[in-house]
Amino acid sequence: VSFGYEEVEESEKVGKVGAVFSSVASKYDVMNDAMSAGTHRLWKDRFVRRVKPRAGESILDMAGGTGDIAFRMVDSGADITVADINAEMLAEGVKRALDKDETRLVWSQQNAEELNFPDAHFDAYTIVFGIRNVTHIDKALAEAHRVLKYGGRFYCMEFSQTKWPGFDKVYETYSHKILPKVGKAVANDEASYRYLAESIAKFPPMEKFRAMIADAGFSQTKVEPLMGGLVAIHSGWKV
Ligand code: SAM
Repeated sequence: VSFGYEEVEESEKVGKVGAVFSSVASKYDVMNDAMSAGTHRLWKDRFVRRVKPRAGESILDMAGGTGDIAFRMVDSGADITVADINAEMLAEGVKRALDKDETRLVWSQQNAEELNFPDAHFDAYTIVFGIRNVTHIDKALAEAHRVLKYGGRFYCMEFSQTKWPGFDKVYETYSHKILPKVGKAVANDEASYRYLAESIAKFPPMEKFRAMIADAGFSQTKVEPLMGGLVAIHSGWKV
């Protein structure tokens, strides 16, 4: 009985996540600016500085969506594959690449839980604002570990829970009350942004997520909180 229940819950989550990103794909970039007042750009710049992509490396940007992280890494000369489960998000990314005359990126439709890449293939695995949408986070982490070379690095940026006193309440109000309204006004899509707020609230806290990364086999796991942990950069090494 519990198996049946879990199955319904999971297929619902997969369907919901698919619908959310298909429905927001074309407005995704505008919405990010509207929702975070442009701050997501600074977080993403900081993330890429931490990853330090280098020429000749091969990097998998998982749940890469429309390519925000990949476009920031490509000038390093690293070979970058953007992988995402959602065809519409990837199509939006390819459109951006064509507009920019950017032909160096490889775009691939993949489920983070079951990657179609060989073992020990990449020097770095990045996932930004993606892992909280994955149904089985442990499977995605195991796959990240599998496809990395020995000596490879894992970097993840995700919303977490801020520890700044007072700010947590402000953020809660913002994400549950204001954000869905911004979603409605800009993208005419309140439900998708309500889902996003809920998925952020449900994601494991920083220390717990760090332990999950260590359980997947990564060493020297670290967490760097931004804005008190509103956003967190987790990292680890496959040794
Ligand atoms: N990384 C990009 C960025 O920061 O702009 C996109 C982030 S977007 C909030 C989340 C992405 O995760 C969506 O493109 C969605 O399709 C993708 N996603 C959700 N579940 C996934 C899964 N199981 N495997 C791969 N991608 C997934």
